[in-house]
Amino acid sequence: MNFTQFDFHPKIAAGIKACNYETPTPIQEQAIPAILEGRDILGLAQTGTGKTAAFVLPILQRLLDGPRGKIRTLIVAPTRELAEQIHSDITKLARQTGIRSVAIYGGVSKLPQLKKVRAGAEIVVACPGRLLDHLSERAFTLANVEHLVLDEADHMFDMGFLPPIRRIIKALPANRQTLLFSATMPGEILHLAEEILNNPARVQIAHSRPTATVEQVLFSVEQDRKMTLLKDIMATTDMGATLIFTRTKYRAQSLARNLQKFGYAATSLQGNLSQNNRQKALNGFKQGEFKVLVATDIAARGIDVSGISHVINYDVPDTVEAFTHRIGRTGRAACTGEAFTFAGREDRRIISLIEKSLGKKMLRNNDHDLAEDVPVRAHSTERSDKKPWHKAKNNVRPGGRANGRPAGRNAKRDATGQKEQPAGGPRKEGARPKRRNRAAMLNSGSGNVFLNQ
Ligand code: AMP
Repeated sequence: MNFTQFDFHPKIAAGIKACNYETPTPIQEQAIPAILEGRDILGLAQTGTGKTAAFVLPILQRLLDGPRGKIRTLIVAPTRELAEQIHSDITKLARQTGIRSVAIYGGVSKLPQLKKVRAGAEIVVACPGRLLDHLSERAFTLANVEHLVLDEADHMFDMGFLPPIRRIIKALPANRQTLLFSATMPGEILHLAEEILNNPARVQIAHSRPTATVEQVLFSVEQDRKMTLLKDIMATTDMGATLIFTRTKYRAQSLARNLQKFGYAATSLQGNLSQNNRQKALNGFKQGEFKVLVATDIAARGIDVSGISHVINYDVPDTVEAFTHRIGRTGRAACTGEAFTFAGREDRRIISLIEKSLGKKMLRNNDHDLAEDVPVRAHSTERSDKKPWHKAKNNVRPGGRANGRPAGRNAKRDATGQKEQPAGGPRKEGARPKRRNRAAMLNSGSGNVFLNQ
């Protein structure tokens, strides 16, 4: 099966080719014909499934007929990053068509957005708050909208955007095509769907897709040992682009700073940053300037960065949905990836819910030797084909300093204030740190096993 079956206009086919899409993804196969027919859609699918092209391509085809220079399509997304990403996908796919798109969100000046609308954009990709600002100032009209897309509707609901969405919908013509996509279908979203969709075609993509190509490992670790564990993993694992999730903005910021101190090209993506700095962090990560991005769920939701090799849940998220979204950042488009989750006793309940949803248990790693000082090495851009997950690195320098840091810096202090020695007694100067291979670590029954059940 390929894209020719949809009979897209040659200018759209050129966009598909430029993006190197050869075979439609399952959601594209299901959604494109129905959207081309003009039907409403209720789509149960998450980001990472090819959902954006599934609605953008048929909308472009429909926009080729009809007037130009008016807002004829409105796409509403929960976060600025997702709005920017959808806008960027449209720009690529529509390059030959002359159809223009503008992204509208808060945190940046209104004027450039308005100029683009007034220059005649046919597609507006907007976050609800800023869009309502423009509408209340009567900056432009949505009276000509023919297609409305609500993307990541469940996330919009989580963020309290349902009332703003209802207000936006009031500004649209009743006679329009409406497409609603959501990764999950809580009652409130189903209710909204019933209100605003007219005999929708239902398209659904299995929820577990992103995890199929992602190897999952669960680390039992108490809060105060997470940083040591992270450094240990990063020093001994072949990692490409790595996305680390924390629960709060503050933790994202301070973890990124800590990693920078240890020589990693790391940055954070969280809501305390200005929009410009958020975009800088994201672009820097996409372009490889930063190898590590530490993010909160809100900031990272829906971001599409190809080639993420590792996702690390430094903090376990509060919901199964958030976990699925995080893990979906790696293993995209049939690539493989690894996901490491750091969990403490307090996370038992959510871990069991996550595993129920995964349909399997994650591999347990309960035997990580945290007492050793961890040599930090440069974070390589390239991933080797091998997976030397626990390859020993003899970069402890004479004098007991690893990469210039005092040996035992991370060692826990005992009650007398003395540093505890690594398990097995003090290491000889220049000696190779003791590592276990991965299988041995995973099979080991010793260590902290509170998440083993
Ligand atoms: P999305 O779910 O829209 O975020 O898409 C996830 C990723 O898949 C993006 O990087 C898209 O560019 C890519 N993609 C979308 N459709 C296809 C396709 N038919 N073939 C290959 N990659 C695709």
